[in-house]
Amino acid sequence: MKYTRPKGTRDILPPESLKKYWVEKIFRQIVTRYGFFEITTPLFEPTELFLRSTGESTDIVTKQMYTFTDQAERSLTLRPEGTPGVVRAIIENRVKIPIRLFYIGPMYRYERPQKGRYREFYQLGIEVIGEASPQIDAEVIEIGNEFFRAIGIKDSIIQLNSVGCPKCRPQFRQELVNFLADKKDKICADCQIRLTKNPLRVFDCKNENCQKVYETAPKVRTSLCPECANHFTAVTNELDQRGIRYIINDRMVRGLDYYTKTAFEYISTKLGAQDSLGGGGRYDNLVEELDGPKTPAIGFALGEERILIVAEPPKDVIQPKLVSIIYLTEKELPYAKELAKELRAAGVSVYLNYELKKLKTQMSYADALKARYACIIGEDEVLKNVVTLRNMETGEQESIPREKIVLKLKAI
Ligand SMILES: [Zn+2]
Ligand SMILES: [Zn+2]
Repeated sequence: MKYTRPKGTRDILPPESLKKYWVEKIFRQIVTRYGFFEITTPLFEPTELFLRSTGESTDIVTKQMYTFTDQAERSLTLRPEGTPGVVRAIIENRVKIPIRLFYIGPMYRYERPQKGRYREFYQLGIEVIGEASPQIDAEVIEIGNEFFRAIGIKDSIIQLNSVGCPKCRPQFRQELVNFLADKKDKICADCQIRLTKNPLRVFDCKNENCQKVYETAPKVRTSLCPECANHFTAVTNELDQRGIRYIINDRMVRGLDYYTKTAFEYISTKLGAQDSLGGGGRYDNLVEELDGPKTPAIGFALGEERILIVAEPPKDVIQPKLVSIIYLTEKELPYAKELAKELRAAGVSVYLNYELKKLKTQMSYADALKARYACIIGEDEVLKNVVTLRNMETGEQESIPREKIVLKLKAI
């Protein structure tokens, strides 16, 4: 084979594509109930947008971006995440605020591919623009939870933290730098770089030795300003009131520069090392930093590939109610076509191949497509105005009067 897909990308084929469609359908249903509307933004944006929002010192911007120059010498980047494009679109189109938006689509990051981690990956995201209440923080967290339960993910755990704001974070950053000043030889090379560029990011390190050092590190929550501290307490109270369980994780800081106050992550115990299903947080300064009006905001993004690994759809999602129509000679084709038309009009999925093949071959097609039923039509069936209906799972066959077949198959 001469051409293969680029490393870190994947082809999504049936039945997985059916599962993907189902996951997205449920997501749309749930967020729509909370007043969200869909937004679609370009897959590429000016590179500058991500430098100014995602953050110049983050791993995403320094190591993982797909950046290219177009023919007019503009620097463009395939979006590594959804939020900057959404915020840019709101400002550019002067969207009336408050508004709640959701998106579904591919993102691009140059990372080492692993199970559940790709260079082209899909995210399901929501953004609440223009709401500052801690109650919406809890509601955003709840929406993710509700979505996971609806797609059969029962083991997801919410990790919660506050990352402070530009008023209180510098003090914490300094405390952390002081704490690590005499421990530099105990942390990995990556963390030593993080320490100089973006100290909070050291908490993301997976290295066990590093994590041991950070166990006794100062906690961002103990240096929060009164406003951030009150907000955090209000969020936890609201979560308690809504009956949503969570774990406070002092070392969870998320890898984006624009987060303020609430940060959260959904973890699945079934995923192994790459255990995050996604996460989000508040970003009260991003709209303003991108030259829009001062606007509080909060959102999350969920990783669809990992969701697909642990989601448990009902059987008929990956095995749709397909009926295959099989005809024995060209003479029965008009009868078969008429039946197909009626079934489709009634909402039944029908496979009818116009190239006449032997019965055995047609049956093997129906098998490969995992059709639930085959309608077999021969000379006899046309004459008696019936259809021989074969249950593809059990192999049972019965003769059904032509006028009853649509009603019967509609009910499967
Ligand atoms: Zn603060
Ligand atoms: Zn480290």
